[in-house]
This record gives sequence, structure tokens and C-alpha cells, in this order.
Amino acid sequence: MSKKLKLLISFISVFLVFSVIACSVFVIVDIKKNIDDNSSSSSENFENESSYFESISSEISSGIAEESSSASEPESEPETESKPPESSSKPEQETPPPHTHTYSVEKTVKPTCTEDGYTVYKCSCGESYKTNGTAALGHSWGEWKTTKEPTTAAEGEKQRNCTRCGEKEIKSIEKLPKPESPPVNPNESYMYILGTSVFSAEDLVNYVLRYKSRDELKLNCTIEELAGYYISEGAAEGIRGDIAFCQAIWETGWFTFGGSVQPDRNNYCGLGAIDDTAGGEKFATPQIGVRAHIQHLKAYASTATKEDLAFSCVDTRFDYAKDKVLQDGIGIARTWVDLGGRWAQPGYDPAKYNSLEAAIAAGDSYGHKILSKYKQLAGIS
Ligand SMILES: [Zn+2]
Ligand SMILES: [Zn+2]
Repeated sequence: MSKKLKLLISFISVFLVFSVIACSVFVIVDIKKNIDDNSSSSSENFENESSYFESISSEISSGIAEESSSASEPESEPETESKPPESSSKPEQETPPPHTHTYSVEKTVKPTCTEDGYTVYKCSCGESYKTNGTAALGHSWGEWKTTKEPTTAAEGEKQRNCTRCGEKEIKSIEKLPKPESPPVNPNESYMYILGTSVFSAEDLVNYVLRYKSRDELKLNCTIEELAGYYISEGAAEGIRGDIAFCQAIWETGWFTFGGSVQPDRNNYCGLGAIDDTAGGEKFATPQIGVRAHIQHLKAYASTATKEDLAFSCVDTRFDYAKDKVLQDGIGIARTWVDLGGRWAQPGYDPAKYNSLEAAIAAGDSYGHKILSKYKQLAGIS
């Protein structure tokens, strides 16, 4: 290569560099003018002038780089001059500032017996979350109520309800302990009023006739009939008819009716005989008299209502007994000893004892009188 040619190439190169710089100045002046004319529209694309110029100058420097690499094509350069700046590659738009959630209460759910309460918070964007509120309240149980009395043969049932939601809970009540077949368990605390007779009508008749002759008995039926009624009526209501018969022996003085109740009343347990002047209730037949006695025992010894009875109620004082054990809060009489202070007032001899408790502790309360007859029947005493 000749020196001349080298010189020419150098000259052309210098010329090209100068013309590029001149073009750049042109472009800058043109853009500046555009901004001044169109300051509102250009702000849509560029946050501010300085960033706009940053982008422009980077455009220019990249243009210069392009030109220096494509120095052999200087003719193409002027085309860029006429292009508006918007048409060249735009700077990336800035991402919007991150959304900050603003939560407000969407709904508040109160706790129930079994479910926790909670509050839902929600943002306008749809995002939501839940907070734990008050814990589940748990059931508010009422008192247990016996819905089915236990017997020696079957379990009973009790129920309690939630006073808030009405949920029911049912539990079984253990069977009553079976009275031992004769000889009988002499432990009074196990001598329940509810249960099945251990002795037969024939046993009861033989027992009475051991102590009284037929002529002494002031009954409006035979002693066999009367004993039969106690067993059958007792069985119908789930009551110990054999022990009720012993109570009748105690109340009537072996059916001789030495007290205020007259034998024509068929009243074997002093029903309605409030004091010595009152004659007590009168029942149409011996069987109805026995039925009233058994029903009256059931009123004291269970939660059964009149509707629960096997036969329509003939005990005119059934409700009185029921109210007494259920509403006065003294509770039902499960055992014969429990009849003291309930069926019988005061249920002991005040000349001998200061209180019912003292009489019970001494084994000498109203219930014990009945059971002493029963033990005699059983051949224990
Ligand atoms: Zn949000
Ligand atoms: Zn509940």
C-alpha cells in the first residue's frame, strides 16, 4: 500500500468521524425541540427529562458504535435524523409501585358450642385472611334427668340437654343390684322399692298366717287374694310387691286396722290419713286399694308420671307425692329407708331420736320398720 493511499484513508476516516459528531449534534437539537413542543406527551413515556436524556445519549453512543462498525455505509446515517425519538427503541416503562394491602373486616362469625369464632379481613384486591376469634364455647349442659328408671332386669337412661344449642346427651344408668334370693340381703341400703318380688303370694300368705288367724284379719277379700294383688300389681309397675305387702302389714297392724283408717276403706297404707281424725282415702275394691298403694310408691320412687303407669291412676295423692320429691328438691326415694321424711313424717319416733338421721343410724326409722317385717318374712329375724 502506498503512502498516498494510507493518507487518503486517514483523511476519509477523520471526515467520517466529524460528520458523525455533526449529525449527533443535529439529532440532539432536534429532540430538544421536540421535547419543548411536546412536553406533555413526552412525559407519558419518560418520567423526567434527565432520564429521557440518559436514554437519548445511550442511543447516540450506541449509534456511534454502530457507525464505527459500519463505517463503510455513511449514507444510511442521515435516515436516523428524520426518525422521531419515539420510534427508536423505547426505554422500559418503570413497574408501578408495589400494591399495599388495606384490609378491613369482611365478616365476624361468633363461636358456637362446637365451632370456634373467627373474623375474615379482606383487601379491595380480593386478598383475604382469617383470624382466630373466641374458641368454641363448649356445651352448656343442664341437669341430668332420668328418662328411664333402671330396674334389676334392665338399665335405665338419663339425658341432659345443652341450654344453648339443644344438643342431647344420653347415658345409661346401671341396673339395680339384684336382690339376693332368699335368704335376703339384710343390708337396707340395697333394699330398693323398684324391682321384682322375691317372694310369692303363697309365701306372703304363710307369713301372715304364722302370726294371725284368718278370723283376726279385717279384709274385704281373702288373704290369698290380697297377697296375689300385691304380687301382680307390683309386677305391673316394677315395684317390690312383696315388700309393699310388708309395709301394709306395718301400716294396718297385720290387717287388723287398729289405727284411724277403717277396714271398709280398702286402704292398706294410710293414704290420706294425715292425722288421727281423718279417715283416709276410700277405694272401691281391695284390688284398687292395692293398686293405689303401688302407684303411690312409684310416685315416690321414680320420675314416672301418671301417663307412665301401667293402669290409669287411682292414687288420688299421686301428684302430691310427685311434687314433693321433684319440686321440693328432696329427690326420689330409691330405698325403703328413703321413705322416712318423704312418705312418712317425720319418719321416726321423736321421743327416741333427735333427728331422722339419728333414727336411720340406729336402724329404727320408718323404712326400718317395713324392713324388719320383710326380714321376718325372709326368716332372717
Ligand atoms: Zn390488596
Ligand atoms: Zn351446645
